[in-house]
Parts: sequence; C-alpha cells; structure tokens
Amino acid sequence: MWDVIIAGAGPAGLVSATVLARSGRRVLLLDPQASGRHKIGESVPGAMARLLAKLGLPGFESPGSPHRRIGGIISLWAGELRTEDHLTTPEGGGWRLDRGAFEKELSESAALAGTIRMPARVARINRRNQSWQIETEGGDRLDAGFLIDATGRNAAIARRQGARQIHGPPLVAVWSMGRATRDVVSNRTFIESTADGWWYAAYLPDRRPLAIFHASPALATELRDHPKQWLERLRKTEHIATHMDPDAFYRTALKSNDARSSHLDQPCGPGWAACGDAALSFDPLSSQGIFNAMASADMISTAILQGTSMEDYSGSLDEIRAIYHKRRNLLYDSAGRYFASSFWTAFETSSPIVRET
Ligand SMILES: Cc1cc2nc3c(=O)[nH]c(=O)nc-3n(C[C@H](O)[C@H](O)[C@H](O)COP(=O)(O)OP(=O)(O)OC[C@H]3O[C@@H](n4cnc5c(N)ncnc54)[C@H](O)[C@@H]3O)c2cc1C
Repeated sequence: MWDVIIAGAGPAGLVSATVLARSGRRVLLLDPQASGRHKIGESVPGAMARLLAKLGLPGFESPGSPHRRIGGIISLWAGELRTEDHLTTPEGGGWRLDRGAFEKELSESAALAGTIRMPARVARINRRNQSWQIETEGGDRLDAGFLIDATGRNAAIARRQGARQIHGPPLVAVWSMGRATRDVVSNRTFIESTADGWWYAAYLPDRRPLAIFHASPALATELRDHPKQWLERLRKTEHIATHMDPDAFYRTALKSNDARSSHLDQPCGPGWAACGDAALSFDPLSSQGIFNAMASADMISTAILQGTSMEDYSGSLDEIRAIYHKRRNLLYDSAGRYFASSFWTAFETSSPIVRET
C-alpha cells in the first residue's frame, strides 16, 4: 500500500513527489512518458529562483546550467511598442529553460528523495474503505491512501471524481521550432498582437528559434492544414520578423496545443487533490504555468503532511485565479479595444464554458 500515488510527472507531480517523499511518505509516481522529453513552455519568472530555493531544488546559476537568463520583453501590443528590461522587475527577468533538462533535474530530485517512478497511465480508480484501488492501462493494480491528480490540463483523475472543468474562451497555440542559427541570438521575449491572435517568439537556450501563434480553434485548424499560411503570417509580423528570421521555420513541423485558461469547480475531495494545470491552468501570455504547477504542488503536499484543511488549499487557488484574471483581462481588453475583431471580443464576454464530466 502506497501512502500517496501521484498521476503525472510534469513539474507539479515531480514537486509534490519530492516534498512528500522527503518527509518519509511512500510515494509512487505514474506517467507513461519518460522524463527529459521536449514539452512546449519554457519561460519562467524571476520569482522561480525563490521557489526553487524554498523547495531545496537546484537553482539555475550553477556552472554548466543549460538554462538562460531572459533579458526582458519587447512587445508590440495593441499598437504600442514596449520594452521591459529585467532591471525594472524586482526579481529579475526570469529564465528561459531547457524544458527537457529542467524536468529531468526535477525527476532526479524526486528519485533522490525516495520516490518510485513507474512508466504507466492511470486507467481506472476506485475508492473503498478510505483507500484507493488503481488500475493502470498495462493492468497493474495498486493501492494508495491518497491520490494526487497532476495529469495537466486533462485533469484525468479529478474529472473521474465528478469535478467539472471550467474553461476560459477557446485559445489554441500553433507553434514551430526553427533551425538553430549561428547568428547572434537575442535573450529577449517577443510578443505581438494582431487582429486575429497573438504571437510569442524567443530563442531557446540551444539557439533554436521558437514561434507560437495563439488563435481561435477555427483559424488554428486552418493554419495546421496550411503551414505556409502560418509562415506567411510570421513574415508579415511588424515587430517579430525584425528580430527573428522567418526562413529558419521553412518546412519545420507545425504543432498545436490547447492554451485556454481552465480551473476545476472542486480541486480536491476525500482522499484526493489536483495540482498544477489539472487544478488551474493559465493563458501562456502569463508565463505562470510552470511556476504555478510547482507552487500549487508544494501547497497541497504541505497540507497533506500537516493535515491542514483542503478548503484552505482551494481558497488559495481561488485567490491566485482572481489575480491572474484581473491581469489577463486588462491586457486582452486593451487589445480588444484596438482591434475590435471577433478573436478579441470572445475574451470580452468571457462567460466561462463548463465542460461536463
Ligand atoms: C503553447 C503553450 C506555451 C506555454 N508556455 C509556457 C511558458 O512559457 N512558461 C510557463 O511557465 N508555462 C507555459 N505553459 C504552461 C506549462 O507548460 C504548464 O503550465 C505546465 O507544464 C504544467 O505542469 P503540470 O505538471 O501541471 O502538467 P504537465 O506538464 O502537463 O504534466 C502532466 C503529466 O501527466 C501525464 N499524464 C496525463 N494523463 C495521465 C494519466 N492518466 N496517468 C498518468 N500520467 C498522466 C502526462 O504524460 C504529463 O507528463 C505553456 C503552455 C502552452 C500550451
């Protein structure tokens, strides 16, 4: 019998495994994916240094670290060009992660703390006599006292427990990683809003350019079907194409991801809790996803260890969501007033969409 089984070995699952195993809990981490594979999402805020130190995890400044300092943001948002320097933010401009290496580092810390990891997907769960019986897709049967849902935006466990996922307006990220360049690469983040979506672009620590267009599902599908249109749009950007050569993306693979905000109406229940994107996920414009995944995992693991109320955890998530919504709405409203197109008006009337389980 495991004290805790955690489904999902992203930043949330890895941090909760580390915190719980360090305190002597028998922790099993289940994820069908191997650690170190590439995932989208790599910009983290300066406050991450403080969080890593609090969690006793390796920082980014060690010699040979694959992660790089972000030098600031240049944005062309709602027609206004702005440069934000890391000197103007109290905790620095943040880091651009080598995401695969970062999750491998977190995975090593979890293993060192005593976590056992199994390459498996949770298929079925059943609660009986205050404990969980879990069946993996491979047919393994496991028992646990507590179950953590760290399965990301899918919230696979929470939804099986009857929690409903509430989504913000639809938003799909259509992205490509270009060929690494030998030219001097910028350490800035580039943002640009357009009438029917917005761009994020940056150079990854290995010098590959990354460009992401965030659009409505209909436009995203069209762009996925016609990658030349995506490239043509990148070429036509007023600001990004002056910092990044669109030719570096010629005939590179185009991928897409759901990028909506979402949260659960119930992030925890008897013997289970969700953390990370499963509990609360953000628009990529916020660059808060990885930080929140790790911070919420720390919160729920500490609550389990201290035996404190799960309602406090739920309340903290509500507070984080309220602050996030305020900031996001300010940005989207300013672009909405400037472009007045259907993409932006969808965010104006953002009555949440409920997905039934
Ligand atoms: C386009 C885009 C750009 C982004 N950019 C940024 C950024 O720049 N900065 C930032 O901070 N965040 C960014 N994010 C968000 C960030 O990637 C997520 O917030 C973060 O990965 C959440 O971590 P997590 O551990 O909650 O979930 P995930 O990282 O999604 O991990 C979930 C894990 O659960 C596993 N899993 C799923 N189902 C099961 C199951 N049934 N059983 C077992 N395991 C399962 C999966 O294999 C996966 O490994 C971006 C997101 C998108 C879509």
